[in-house]
Amino acid sequence: MNNKRIWLSLAHMGGQEQQFIQEAFDTNWVVPLGPNVDGFEKDLENYLGEEKHIVALSAGTAAIHLALVQLGVGPGDEVICQSFTFSASANPIKYLGAEPVFVDSEPETWNMDPELLREAIEERIRVTGRKPKAIIPVHLYGMPAKMDEIMTIACAFEIPVLEDAAEALGAEYKGQKCGTFGEFACLSFNGNKMITTSGGGALVCSTKEEADFTKHLATQARDNAPHYQHSKVGYNYRLSNICAGIGRGQMLVLQEHVEARRRINKRYRQLLAGIPGISFQSNPSPDFNSNMWLTCIVVDAAEAGFTREELRLAMEQENIETRPLWKPMHLQPVFADAPYYGNETKVSERLFNDGLCLPSHPNLTDEDLERVCGVINKIAAKIH
Ligand SMILES: *Cc1c(COP(=O)(O)O)cnc(C)c1O
Repeated sequence: MNNKRIWLSLAHMGGQEQQFIQEAFDTNWVVPLGPNVDGFEKDLENYLGEEKHIVALSAGTAAIHLALVQLGVGPGDEVICQSFTFSASANPIKYLGAEPVFVDSEPETWNMDPELLREAIEERIRVTGRKPKAIIPVHLYGMPAKMDEIMTIACAFEIPVLEDAAEALGAEYKGQKCGTFGEFACLSFNGNKMITTSGGGALVCSTKEEADFTKHLATQARDNAPHYQHSKVGYNYRLSNICAGIGRGQMLVLQEHVEARRRINKRYRQLLAGIPGISFQSNPSPDFNSNMWLTCIVVDAAEAGFTREELRLAMEQENIETRPLWKPMHLQPVFADAPYYGNETKVSERLFNDGLCLPSHPNLTDEDLERVCGVINKIAAKIH
């Protein structure tokens, strides 16, 4: 039997990436700016629509950092962040000497619970006498957060929203692309994301002024002078023209990638239908259109007769890489002291304990998917 390693998430090249890189070499634009950077930003602007302004950066984390700088976040400030996420959503808050306040998820999208968000804002104002400086909802695994409810609360309290859309390129909420709802949004092009630049990210800005200022900050905040003059602390966060060349090639196949991931998700649902105790992260209504970056399942051990961890180990035995869902930030040692707003349903903690990401990249064949589901079928058949 075929036992080659099935990976969780792999990059997939469209074919034209090397041509854009070759152009950069041929024209000697092997630097952190140039025609590929401009072209990549234009491609992303056209794709997202909503008249957004995009700045390509060296990482999604850098994008979050520069957004928080522009939202005036500094020492002593608080920033509200979804707890159920990757640490990169929250780390830049600490870079600026500010404190994260974590909010748990609701069970439908697995993203920031609007009710708990309201509770958190009201209590932080009561306790500290000041409003949190920003709200960071995340579209986890490409599933749109409940943006109407979140934006309504953010507007009522006049707190800007920074969307973490690192996993959500191509996802839509009410027909509008994720990454276009907040004052700012971050995208990631790391190796395992929807598209890759071999490492990179972007900040989605609402105005040209914000985008210009982002570029200024990302290139060491050089003043307009013939010599090197600086009036502000700057960063070295621009994307290289070589990496942007990969990004331009990837933009040509982005929609194919989105469709491939959605197709894989659909196939998993067919192959696993009827297995007791297995459920999926699912679009709660037609308003939500996840890009299905990773297909995630939850194992209800009482009903399934096996635990998530038993399943993960069984997969590993068959040379299949799977991974538990993100460990919530309020359970991370590094954020042990941060305020946390959740309730007895403990949505993210439960998902962390019982959830599993299945292999979900465009290179997977139907045979691969059958092998993955075969492991689940086998372990379930032993019990039932
Ligand atoms: C990947 C990721 C980031 C960070 O992006 P990088 O490009 O790796 O810095 C931020 N938030 C989430 C939710 C992510 O998955």
